[in-house]
Amino acid sequence: MTDCIFCKIARGELPSKKVYEDDELLAFHDIHPAAPVHLLVIPKLHVASLAECDGRHGEVLGKMLLLAPKLAQDHGLVDGFKTVINTGKGGGQVVFHLHVHIIGGANMAHV
Ligand code: 5GP
Ligand code: ZN
Repeated sequence: MTDCIFCKIARGELPSKKVYEDDELLAFHDIHPAAPVHLLVIPKLHVASLAECDGRHGEVLGKMLLLAPKLAQDHGLVDGFKTVINTGKGGGQVVFHLHVHIIGGANMAHV
């Protein structure tokens, strides 16, 4: 997807504050953090949302979720953290490239 901002970040065409990268995944700080720690984990390959995923995405989805507690620990979220995947307009999704939010460092009850 040429005009997708997260694809551009994944390709290094737009800057981001990266915290993790491997062949399949990238994680970086959210530009408008909702809490002291707010990271986004994306697959490098474009998929618009969780609703567009199928069996072929099972492995990468698993890797994204398994990365979350590691990044949370790296960022000092020893008491826990919140993971959020907004899906579709009705789910509050704004950027249509699959991403997991990792949020923590404040009272997470109402975030
Ligand atoms: P969504 O509502 O789609 O789940 O969340 C999209 C998130 O991406 C928002 O929290 C927003 O702040 C973040 N975001 C949007 N554009 C950029 C960007 O260019 N760079 C970074 N680092 N985050 C972005
Ligand atoms: Zn994309």
